[in-house]
Amino acid sequence: MRSETVSMTTPVDPIAPRIQPAECEIHGSYDQKVTALLGREFKGGCPECQRIANEEREAAERAEKAHQLRIAMARKLGAALIPKRFAEKTLAQYVAESRPQALALAICQRYVEVFGEVQKTGRCLMLLGKPGTGKTHLGAGIANDLMRNTSATAVYRTVGAVLQAIRATYDRSSDKSEAEILSSLIEPDLLVLDEVGVSKEQPSDFELTTLFAIINGRYEQVRPTVVISNLDAAQLPQAMGERCVDRLREGGGVVVVFDWESQRGKEGV
Ligand SMILES: [Zn+2]
Repeated sequence: MRSETVSMTTPVDPIAPRIQPAECEIHGSYDQKVTALLGREFKGGCPECQRIANEEREAAERAEKAHQLRIAMARKLGAALIPKRFAEKTLAQYVAESRPQALALAICQRYVEVFGEVQKTGRCLMLLGKPGTGKTHLGAGIANDLMRNTSATAVYRTVGAVLQAIRATYDRSSDKSEAEILSSLIEPDLLVLDEVGVSKEQPSDFELTTLFAIINGRYEQVRPTVVISNLDAAQLPQAMGERCVDRLREGGGVVVVFDWESQRGKEGV
């Protein structure tokens, strides 16, 4: 752009704009304002085009604000319930000491990298196997990495926390309704559901109904879920219900088996 030096003493006459007829390709003829300033003429555009452009810009700004708010809320909600030990963990912090561990890590990293594709199919991930093998670190790491590096929203919950939150709505010790809690688990782009089948007992009808409402609700919206359990693939249907596991397997659900010895007590797990 050419710079113009204007002396402070140069009088700039506020000349009233001249009006001339002009033609917009879309909106037809309009009164064009022509303003003379600093020896140049500035021609106004079509007022209708201007109005539409302003409206579009304002709508985009509102949508962006709403989106940022949604991310901030999901981040707050999600982070609040990630166990403190894993709240800041990223996938990169997971130390793989064997080939199966490196493979589990690679699958999780890939899941984040191609999350745009994952969202089209709703492909779920099941991290299954022994306690203390790093499943929660990888699950929380997926949620954290997604929230840090993409605009996707992710929420981490244990099954126990979900059931407790819903039970609290029954005795009015919660300010939320059951529907609100369910939608907070169905709305996010990713749900990481930990401690599935942890009770070892036969799940109650309440537990099975709740799990199905969540998993099926997400399935219907083509939203992926990461399920973490100490059970193996054969035991999972008993803990979640057959229909739930069917939903998880739809769209190319991936099972990652954590069958190495517990790493608890070691760093980086
Ligand atoms: Zn126009």
